[in-house]
Amino acid sequence: MSLSTVLYRSLRLRCPRCGQGKLFRGRFSMHATCDGCEYQYDRGPGYFLGSIYVNYGLTSVLVVVGYFTLFFTGWLPRGALLWTLGGFSILFPLWFFRYARSLWIGFDQYFDPVPMPTDRDAKREPTA
Ligand SMILES: [Zn+2]
Repeated sequence: MSLSTVLYRSLRLRCPRCGQGKLFRGRFSMHATCDGCEYQYDRGPGYFLGSIYVNYGLTSVLVVVGYFTLFFTGWLPRGALLWTLGGFSILFPLWFFRYARSLWIGFDQYFDPVPMPTDRDAKREPTA
């Protein structure tokens, strides 16, 4: 699986393994597994902590770039900079929440892939 495939599936908020199942059932609530391939999205306690780093990191970069751009170009009055970027730093992470989780799951699947179950796995008798 290529990185571009993983990114494409992540940005569509789809399962990183099969690309079919939806990750989210609401604005902030996720499905536990993929409808298409039974991929378990949450691999363990604290798993989605990494998505917070993704979200925070991108928000920070955008605020810093936005600040210097707006400060030195003078496109906004100086007094409006704080309120504009403050509002952005609150609203953007809320909007980006689902994409940050999706990207986190996608990168995890890319770097530590969980293989697709085979027919042989499905026919295997459960062990006691
Ligand atoms: Zn899937």
